[in-house]
Amino acid sequence: MDRKMNRRDFVVGGAMAGVAATLPGSLQALELAPRGPAVIVRSAVKPLVISAANGMRSRDAAGKSAVEKAYEMIVGGSDVLDALIAGVNIIELDPKDTSVGYGGLPNADGVVQLDSSCMHGPLKRAGGVAAIEGVKTPSQVARAVMNETDNHLLVGAGAQDFARRLGFEILPDLNTPESRRLWLEWKRRTDSEHYPDPKTRATVGMQVGLQMVREGLIEAEHYYGTINCDGINARGDICGVTTTSGLAFKIPGRTGDSPILGAGLYVDNDIGAAGSTGRGEANLYNLASFLIVENMRRGMTPKDAGLDALRRIKANTIEKRLLNSRGNPNFYLNFYALNKRGEYAGLSMYPARFAVCDERGSRLEDTVPLLTGSATD
Ligand code: ASP
Repeated sequence: MDRKMNRRDFVVGGAMAGVAATLPGSLQALELAPRGPAVIVRSAVKPLVISAANGMRSRDAAGKSAVEKAYEMIVGGSDVLDALIAGVNIIELDPKDTSVGYGGLPNADGVVQLDSSCMHGPLKRAGGVAAIEGVKTPSQVARAVMNETDNHLLVGAGAQDFARRLGFEILPDLNTPESRRLWLEWKRRTDSEHYPDPKTRATVGMQVGLQMVREGLIEAEHYYGTINCDGINARGDICGVTTTSGLAFKIPGRTGDSPILGAGLYVDNDIGAAGSTGRGEANLYNLASFLIVENMRRGMTPKDAGLDALRRIKANTIEKRLLNSRGNPNFYLNFYALNKRGEYAGLSMYPARFAVCDERGSRLEDTVPLLTGSATD
């Protein structure tokens, strides 16, 4: 029996069937779980799914968004991580989302390389893949790394080979006509063959990419752009997943924060979950998802925990090339955090939106920004 049980603990299972009809929504959801012998759970919370804003954009054939799909599966009794991955698969498979999975913007060589990680709170396990090519749904491969190996992270050709052996479809190219068109435009403007020195090449590549965002050729949230999706069920089981094509036109092999535990994602089933989208390098230098979970462990709300992490990132951003005219970070970085009680927040360097789905339905909410204005002010 769990030593941490307290007065809010209660017994669910077969004995609950008769009283379920009189219980509030969150407790009724427990009844949807498969019946079995009576089990003791720590406390009941209202099931909840939060994600980056694109969790409300792509739709599956039934018209469901990622957060709706995940929420529906969670209240239907599915494993929380399976539900979240089914949700983000909708975006990974959407050719119109140029920041995640199939159709994600490729690297500087025109090759789509994807990163993902997932973390299962109750099982205390995690898996990840980085720079994997040819698989539309890297989140599923990340889960397979978690389930089928003793390792956390597989990268590049090894990750693809692992996926192939498990029967994943390997495509020769994950570009869509649109992602290839944008890459060709970027390539034309950078003419990167003329810049053999990697530093110049990277600087020019970034300048051209951001100019394409300013011209409206690429949506800002798809230049960087990722989905992190976190959820909790009525038993208090917490999981998270992050999946991305990473920074547009990145140096081949570049991996951001998404597949790195503590950066793009962190889950502690006793405390909560946090994940990120935006400039991965700024997050990696501060391992902010881990910091947010640790802040919540020390009693901070998700909101205060996330703002504290953003403050640290701002303080550690001292290079001139990363500062705008006001001396503030010139990049976007968002965090999504929830705690064991089902409290949640979206936090960001600059004002943004994030997706939520709970018993009130799905919606976009405003994040709590650390700074006003925009990154480019
Ligand atoms: N964080 C991702 C990365 O740096 C990209 C993003 O979220 O926009 O690869």
